[in-house]
Amino acid sequence: MDKKSLIELKLKCLYYGIYINESTVKKLQNLDTYFVQGLFSHHKKDVTNYKIPNEIILPYDIVVQIRNSENSPVELISEEEKFFIKDKEKGIKVSIKFPKAPKFYEKLTSDGTKMYKVIQLTGKDCLKIYTSNYCEFEKLKSVCKFCTVDSSRRLQDVVYNKNLKQIVETFKEAKEEGYYGHVMITAGTYPTEDRGLVFISEVLNEIRKETGLDKIYGSVSTVPPKDMKYIETIYNAGIEYLTFNLEVYDEKLFKKYCPGKDKYIGREHYFKCYERAVEIFGAGKVRSNFVAGIEPLDSLIEGFEVLAKMGVVPTVTMLSLNEKNQENMGKDFKLPDIEYYKELYKNLELIYRKYNMKPAWCEKCRTTSLEHEGKYLL
Ligand code: SF4
Repeated sequence: MDKKSLIELKLKCLYYGIYINESTVKKLQNLDTYFVQGLFSHHKKDVTNYKIPNEIILPYDIVVQIRNSENSPVELISEEEKFFIKDKEKGIKVSIKFPKAPKFYEKLTSDGTKMYKVIQLTGKDCLKIYTSNYCEFEKLKSVCKFCTVDSSRRLQDVVYNKNLKQIVETFKEAKEEGYYGHVMITAGTYPTEDRGLVFISEVLNEIRKETGLDKIYGSVSTVPPKDMKYIETIYNAGIEYLTFNLEVYDEKLFKKYCPGKDKYIGREHYFKCYERAVEIFGAGKVRSNFVAGIEPLDSLIEGFEVLAKMGVVPTVTMLSLNEKNQENMGKDFKLPDIEYYKELYKNLELIYRKYNMKPAWCEKCRTTSLEHEGKYLL
């Protein structure tokens, strides 16, 4: 199968989710892969009674997050000891692999914590460090309507608030095993005025001190700090990229779907912080993610263009709905059809070309989006 068809298959896996029947689920339980779920892991089905691998690898090393679904034209099947993704609509079957669980997952930090509970691997060599799995907007009853931070906590056998020592020790071990290509550091919203940037800076400084690294490749993602001086604090800690996720470009829809970000941060403040961050980090070194599927395509593409013009790289996460966030989004909210996403990724690719921008992360680590793969859809 050619790469273009496989990229379309990846899109379908993310859009519809992947159906796995019970006998296949049983066979998955003893695989040598990782099952630990990420901060915003997402399943349309109740998966609390069994383990679901975090991701699969299609041919050409195309990595895809598994979003387990009750009802999808895409199915994970097993035949003898082999696993496949079957696209029932197209009548095709593709052999898949599962990434092997890294050795450091079973090692312990000095306080006896299993390291998989502290840092998770995604794709080839992206280390996901979720410093906190809580969000202040949960307390303030103003979570982003699409957010799965609370339901994903149920799925996660991880430390919810990691301390500096746990993170640094785990990072060192993962690096020694060759899993550090870049980091994805994020958390729910912190209540403090720095929005967690001081703690994350301490973590980065300690990692650099302990490993001798001068710079840390990858990104730190938070909501913008109340005081912009903290943008400099995090820059001085040696991180490569800074990310403030606007999620929704349209002003009214931002208010509606991100009530906490709207009320306690403010859209205007986001833009001021983008400007300041680009001054400090440089054009192309600041990012903003959008949750695709909420707003009309025109408005989303306008948002990509406006931010790219400012030097901010737009990135995309594909919205999925489960019972919880469907209720929050509203009973009548429906995802746009799959063509919306094809158009979106084509346009995003053209914007990257126009502004000479590199898509975020890398092709081998981006399991939840196709920012690197829009060129195959053009
Ligand atoms: S800021 Fe919004 S998207 Fe992020 S964790 Fe909080 S509620 Fe979820």
